[in-house]
Amino acid sequence: MAEYDIYDVEDIRKLVDGELPWTTVQQMMKNGKDRDRFDKWLVILQGRVPWKEKILLPLTPALFIVQKPKERVVKCRCGHEFGDYRVNWKLSALIYVRDSDEKISEVYRGHEKPDTEWIQLREYYCPGCGSQLEVEAMPRGCPPDFEFLPDLDTFYREWIGRPLPETVEFVDRTPERIKEWTSR
Ligand SMILES: [Zn+2]
Repeated sequence: MAEYDIYDVEDIRKLVDGELPWTTVQQMMKNGKDRDRFDKWLVILQGRVPWKEKILLPLTPALFIVQKPKERVVKCRCGHEFGDYRVNWKLSALIYVRDSDEKISEVYRGHEKPDTEWIQLREYYCPGCGSQLEVEAMPRGCPPDFEFLPDLDTFYREWIGRPLPETVEFVDRTPERIKEWTSR
C-alpha cells in the first residue's frame, strides 16, 4: 500500500492550514489516505502546544484529550486542565449565560433572535486563558450538551492498530460528577 504514502508532515500541515490550491486539495481527497495520516496530524498538533503530554485526540481547535501518567484528561492549548475526559469538560469551564432579551440582543438582532422564554445561549470559556471554547443554544433547564465522548481504546485498537497501554472503562461519568455536587 506504499502508493498511498505520498504525503509528508509538511504536506499535511499545509492542508490543515488551508495553504494548498483547491486542485491539490481535491487530489488529496480523491487519493487513498496515507496509513499514518492520523499520526502526522498529531505531530502537527503536538508541535503547536507548549506542553509535553501526548495528545490522544483533539476535541476542538483549543481542546485536546491528553495522556497523563495515570489518566486521560481534557487540556486546553494554554495548559489548563479540565479533568477526566469522560466528564463533560463544560462542567469545569467558566460559563456566561445569555438568558434575557437584553443579553441576547448583544449578539442577535431582529427576527433571528431566539425567544428567551425557551432558549438560552451559553458561552464556555477557559479559566486558564479566557478563550471562548464553545457556544451552545439550549432550552432552559437542559444540561450542557456533551458533544463528543470518543471510545479511545476501540479507536486506537481497531482503527489505528496500536492499542493504548491501559484500557479505561468507556462510560459517561458526567452524571456521577453532578451527583457528587448535588449530594454535598
Ligand atoms: Zn486555555
